[in-house]
Amino acid sequence: MSTSEIEKPAKNDKSADSHERSVWVGFDLGGTKMLAAVYDAEFQLLGKKRKPTKGHEGSEAGIERVHGLIAKALEDADVSVDQIIGIGIGVPGPLDLVDGIVLDTPNLGWKDVPIRQQLEDKFGCPAVLMNDVDAGVYGETRFGAARGARCTVGLFPGTGIGGGCVIDGEIFRGSRLSCFEVGHMRVVPDGPRCGCGRRGCLEAVASRLSISAQAAAAAYRGQAPFLKKAEGTDLSEIRSAALAASIKGGDKVVEDIVRAAARHLGTAAGSLVNLLNPDVILLGGGLVEALPELYSEVVIGAAQKRAMACYRDTFEVKVASLGDYASVQGAAAWAQHTLEKTKG
Ligand SMILES: [Zn+2]
Repeated sequence: MSTSEIEKPAKNDKSADSHERSVWVGFDLGGTKMLAAVYDAEFQLLGKKRKPTKGHEGSEAGIERVHGLIAKALEDADVSVDQIIGIGIGVPGPLDLVDGIVLDTPNLGWKDVPIRQQLEDKFGCPAVLMNDVDAGVYGETRFGAARGARCTVGLFPGTGIGGGCVIDGEIFRGSRLSCFEVGHMRVVPDGPRCGCGRRGCLEAVASRLSISAQAAAAAYRGQAPFLKKAEGTDLSEIRSAALAASIKGGDKVVEDIVRAAARHLGTAAGSLVNLLNPDVILLGGGLVEALPELYSEVVIGAAQKRAMACYRDTFEVKVASLGDYASVQGAAAWAQHTLEKTKG
C-alpha cells in the first residue's frame, strides 16, 4: 500500500460513534473441536477461541455454540460485532456452496443447515461457507508452505482423507457442491470396504483410522512391542503421536504399515499430477505432521512412479506449516477474496 493510500481520508466519515468495519473472522467447524479467529485487513491474528464441537447435541445447539465462540473471539481481539467485514467458515462436506447450506455431515450428524444465512442474520455482515479442507489448502497457498504456487493439490489424511485444490488463486469447484473427494478415489480394486460403502477407496487403506486399525492388530499379535507397551490393552484409538513414537521406538511392522499407506497416498497424488500438473502436492494432518520426513520421501517416490514422464519432475511435495491456523486464516482470507470479487 502506498503512503497516499494510507493518508486518503475515509470514504465514510459520517459516523464518529459507529466503528469502522476492519476485521475478518475465520471459523473452523471440525468434528471434535471448533476454532474461531479474528484477523485484521492484513490477516494478522488479533484474537482466537476454541472449544469442543459436541455435534451430537444437534445443529440448533451447535449453531448457538458457533455464534457464542465468535463472540468470545471478538472479545479476545477486543473488537465489536459491527467491526466485522465478513465471516468465512470451513465445514466438513458435502456442502451446497451456492446457497450456503451444510447438506449432510457424518462427522457432526447435521443435515440441511442454512449456516451462511444464520451467520449473516446473527452478525449483520456477509458470510461465506466453504469446505474445511479447501480452507486449509487455501490458507497454506496464501500464507503457508505452498505460498506462491499456481496450483496446489492438498491431501490430508486423518479420520478420513480430505482433499482440496487451489488453482490461480481460486478454490477448484464444480457446479454447485464442494468437491475434490480424493479419499474416495479407488486405489485398490476389491480392497477393503470404505465408510462410503464402496471398496478400495484411498481412505480405506491410507487414513489414520485404517493405519491405527492395522497397527492395533499388529500390537495385539505381539508384532509391535513398543506400541503395545505404550498403549497397554486399550488399542481402540491409537493417535498420530503414538504411531510416530512406536516407529521411533523401533516397531518395524508399524513403520511398514505407515509406509504402505503413504505409498497409496503417493500413487493417488501421481494420478492427480497427471490430471492437473500442480506445482505443489501439499500434505497435512496430524500423522503427516508427526512423521514429515517419512511421508515426504514415500509420497514423492510413489507419485513420481505414477506420474507420466513429462510430469515427473514438475512438482514438489511439501508439508503444511500453519497447523490449526491454516483453515481459519484460509477461511477468513477466502471470505475477503469472494466478497471483494462479487463487489467488484
Ligand atoms: Zn469411499
